[in-house]
Amino acid sequence: MAKRFPIIGYVEAMSDYIPYGYQDINQEDIDAVITVLHSDWITQGPAIERFEQAVANYCGVKYAVAVSSATAALHIACLAASLGEGDILWTSPNTFVASANCGLYCNAKVDFIDIDSNTYNLSIDELESKLAEAEKQGCLPKVLIPVHFAGQSCEMEKIAALSQQYGFKVIEDASHAIGGSYQKKTVGSCQFSDITVFSFHPVKIITTGEGGMVLTNQEKLYQRLIRLRSHGITRNPDLMQGESHGSWYYQQLELGFNYRMTDIQAALGASQMQRLDEFVERRWFLANRYNQLLQDLPLMLPWQHPDTYSSWHLYVIRLKLDKIKKTHRQVFEELRSAGIGVSLHYIPVHIQPYYQKFGFKLGHFPQVEKYYKEAISIPIYYGLDEESQDRVVASLRERLI
Ligand SMILES: *Cc1c(COP(=O)(O)O)cnc(C)c1O
Repeated sequence: MAKRFPIIGYVEAMSDYIPYGYQDINQEDIDAVITVLHSDWITQGPAIERFEQAVANYCGVKYAVAVSSATAALHIACLAASLGEGDILWTSPNTFVASANCGLYCNAKVDFIDIDSNTYNLSIDELESKLAEAEKQGCLPKVLIPVHFAGQSCEMEKIAALSQQYGFKVIEDASHAIGGSYQKKTVGSCQFSDITVFSFHPVKIITTGEGGMVLTNQEKLYQRLIRLRSHGITRNPDLMQGESHGSWYYQQLELGFNYRMTDIQAALGASQMQRLDEFVERRWFLANRYNQLLQDLPLMLPWQHPDTYSSWHLYVIRLKLDKIKKTHRQVFEELRSAGIGVSLHYIPVHIQPYYQKFGFKLGHFPQVEKYYKEAISIPIYYGLDEESQDRVVASLRERLI
């Protein structure tokens, strides 16, 4: 039976197709899920607590809230940070649309910070000058969402200093970065932020099928997050207005959602957590191997800031187009035709038709636009064997020389 790769759009894939990312599910993961299916709880229950505890312990953070996706996580994170109508959210244009959409869900305005041409994360210089300008204009952001692109942390110490100076909140979109670290502190510790968000979509570092998590050290934010996850309802008499009517009683205090994760998913997540370091180590091995094998090709290879330890969610190459006889698109399509599941992270969010409606135009963020014309994500995932990786390299070499 041919394998199906949902991440490339339910294409009946060739048996030798190499996707850009892929989950790794072992027998222990399967057993953990089956145990839950035989138990009394299948929605939010004890497995959620175990998974939240496992992630919180790993990251060295006080509170963790499991939710149905990182998109849901970003939404309630913004609400917990009091983002609302008339407020402004800034993020990187080199991200998945969800990092910006969460601002629109809250009726806030969204704007972007151009990227650093080495890390592909939002540029600190751009952020500094845009903040200085916004202060003059009286339009400072309430929330900044730095995205740890490809698994490499942003320069959080500098971001935290700017958040102090200008009074905005920081929500790390660490969808790519669980298992990574910054200045030797695990991503998710929230040492330099208010909130951190993870994604457990199958292409990410660990998976729950669909799922996300919100982390924070602030108890107030935590109380708000657990309430927003479940309809804005509380069963805690201490948080109620007036007296409890009895043991059946709950109160809806604000407008929340059903963003719960199931215990079935959480059991998978808790089981995957046990192999997180192994997953990241394998990704490092593969990334180092690409660095070696691709060094003589007309490519810009991913640069690593010395303060960071990436989780290597993505391995992005940039074509040196002046040294290649083909276009970016030709190289991309030829690799796909050869069974190499390359991808492109990301189409700059500001040039999406939906965002152009807000007045964003091509030319507004030149670094990310240049990057978009050159970037290709090549396969990297735990189960990628060296023979397949060699095929990726050979296929690239054939097309670039
Ligand atoms: C995957 C991803 C998301 C969304 O994650 P879901 O769990 O699929 O909702 C958000 N931001 C970034 C940077 C991502 O890569």
